[in-house]
Amino acid sequence: MTRLVLLGPPGAGKGTQAKLLSTRLGIPAISTGDIFRANVAQGTELGRTAKEYMDAGRYVPDTVTNAMVRDRLAEGDAQDGFILDGYPRTTDQVRELDDMLTERGGKLDAVLEITADTDELVRRLTRRAQLEGRSDDTEDVVRTRQEVYREQTAPLVQVYAERGLLRSVDGLGEVPAVTARLLDALGRTDEV
Ligand code: ADP
Repeated sequence: MTRLVLLGPPGAGKGTQAKLLSTRLGIPAISTGDIFRANVAQGTELGRTAKEYMDAGRYVPDTVTNAMVRDRLAEGDAQDGFILDGYPRTTDQVRELDDMLTERGGKLDAVLEITADTDELVRRLTRRAQLEGRSDDTEDVVRTRQEVYREQTAPLVQVYAERGLLRSVDGLGEVPAVTARLLDALGRTDEV
């Protein structure tokens, strides 16, 4: 049973690492950004609401996001553990996640923070904009997303550090090297 949260600024590589860890650990990666983008692609009401915020680089309102994660964590495949990528992102979401886990009789095992300096983050997101054409990877929106992260999400690092759950890992270098560091931080070097 492994319940993990991945923290880190936009461009740190959370999505990439969440998928790799998911395969290694045999638990689902749950990305709020991916769920929002899937809803945008399908043209659902949730997607229409989310798109407005995402394209501006702002967070989708907590009420919408919390309800969506609550539903996702209730699904069968999340009962044996999960990797949350992109949630929680606000102190309100931290409280909500605590409530969800308490209701299900569980708790987080670790919060993995992936770090990278701002120059590298901007370089990666600019490259991704060219490759994937994500509508929130334009220069202005990237800058807003970094600011919103600093203001609303960076404080969560301290919150989880105080709980003794935080493990910080350097996100610079080759993708497999970062995965190895994350597994190491979880005490799972045997998985590499
Ligand atoms: P990144 O971490 O690179 O910004 P994501 O795919 O995780 O990319 O998120 C993209 C966008 O989805 C965010 O800018 C935000 O608008 C929305 N989003 C994702 N997760 C959350 C969340 N937990 N709370 C509010 N909005 C979110």
